Amino acid sequence: MTQTTVKTILNYIDGEWVDAETDKTEAVYNPASGDVIANVPISTEEDVDRAVKAASEAFETWKEVPVPKRARILFKYQQLLVDHWDELAEIVTIENGKSFKEAQGEVQRGIENVEFAAGAPTLMMGDQLPSIADGLESGVYRYPIGVVGGITPFNFPMMVPAWMFPMAIVTGNTFVLKPSERTPLLANRLAELFEEAGLPKGVFNIVHGAHEVVNGLLDHKDVAAISFVGSQPVAKYVYQRGTENLKRVQALAGAKNHSIVLEDANLGNAATQILNAAFGSAGERCMAASVVAVEESVADSFIEQLVQKANEIKIGNGLDEGVFLGPVIRENHKERTLEYIELGEKEGATLVRDGRNDKEAQREGYFVGPTIFDNVTKEMKIWQDEIFAPVLSISRVKNLNEAIELTNQSRFANGACLFTKDGGNVRQFRETIDAGMLGVNIGVPAPMAFFPFSGWKDSFYGDLHANGKDGLEFYTRKKVLTTRWV
Ligand code: NAD
Repeated sequence: MTQTTVKTILNYIDGEWVDAETDKTEAVYNPASGDVIANVPISTEEDVDRAVKAASEAFETWKEVPVPKRARILFKYQQLLVDHWDELAEIVTIENGKSFKEAQGEVQRGIENVEFAAGAPTLMMGDQLPSIADGLESGVYRYPIGVVGGITPFNFPMMVPAWMFPMAIVTGNTFVLKPSERTPLLANRLAELFEEAGLPKGVFNIVHGAHEVVNGLLDHKDVAAISFVGSQPVAKYVYQRGTENLKRVQALAGAKNHSIVLEDANLGNAATQILNAAFGSAGERCMAASVVAVEESVADSFIEQLVQKANEIKIGNGLDEGVFLGPVIRENHKERTLEYIELGEKEGATLVRDGRNDKEAQREGYFVGPTIFDNVTKEMKIWQDEIFAPVLSISRVKNLNEAIELTNQSRFANGACLFTKDGGNVRQFRETIDAGMLGVNIGVPAPMAFFPFSGWKDSFYGDLHANGKDGLEFYTRKKVLTTRWV
């Protein structure tokens, strides 16, 4: 289909599906075929203003709804999401490219966020001390903060928005979501189902578009807080501009996740885990394994197993049976990835598996096969930069000390994994590694909804992370009441 024969999707404001105040659109592609599947409006600041007005008005009544009643709507929503699980996963695969199985897993992660948020009556309870002095008591009461703006990336169209809006809304806030313009379709289905669950008008709004919508949210005087997830330069920009406008901001950013494989590790498990973590979702995960530091003594054997398993990966359209590796998101992202592969060769790394040669990488759509470099050093751009594609770099190290020292030189610090059987190594790793989310003998240690998503350094700007108690704190503010009984 061409761009002119497909529909332009609508914004969702005050419970209505509305056109944006602009004719400007961008094509949305199915990355597995290159077909245009929809157009997304590149909305303006006027559209943002309209949505924020609706959200501000809705806030006045929504914040008064008793917390258990708000939670009940989330219980209904959870059931609807479960009922529509496969339909939602299919939309994710079509617009993002990841395999249907992975998309189902992503939907599960989103549902878990709704389940966690449905515990709001307990989560929102305050603390009391009945006796702070003779006849005096104090207590903490928790309230919503107002209108929250959410800005999300292309790689998790279900899970990342679900880190934000269920908790924000159940705690009494109203929400304006700006989904990625590259994967905007699922958000509209999420809104339809939330409406079906009984959510009042204006509580959840969607404004599609790009940087103008982002700036509109960052500058709007009636937006109290911004939750952002995306690449490092944009996260830093959003954090700086949002906080300059005196908003509460959490900005989750890019990553370069390191795995360390020691000689006592179960090498078969390490190779399987790292393979899944490096090439699952075509490496387009903020928790993707992108660098491995392997102990020299087992490096050859580890790499041999990794390459062997990589050769067995089925590449193709994520909706097809057995496919593990789907396309990257866009043609220009594929080109950028191929440039990094060329650069890695020029920088002197050893290309042990070249994903450019896979037959399936030549088909229509934006495919790159699993690519593995050996002898990568920290001076190389392929070690330093987030490539966000199925490209894995391996460095050889003498021991755990050297591996940790190397890892800690990265500017990013999202996830890090250690493969070992030795408890002492685990302790040393836990205590000295710079990363917010650690794994031992697992490849993608992405925390579940009730734990914080905890990046450090250039992988996160802000104080309170997404999810867990941090998420609750981010979307609420407190009053402390001190009473003298006379
Ligand atoms: P991106 O930064 O290009 O886009 C994220 C959002 O910001 C989108 O909604 C986009 O419209 C908007 N945006 C992009 N450029 C902008 C600009 N110049 N001004 C204002 N807004 C702008 O990110 P992406 O490519 O969609 O997503 C991939 C990135 O997200 C990777 O770097 C990945 O590591 C990161 N990510 C991080 C986490 C985490 O938890 N730390 C989770 C998922 C993804």
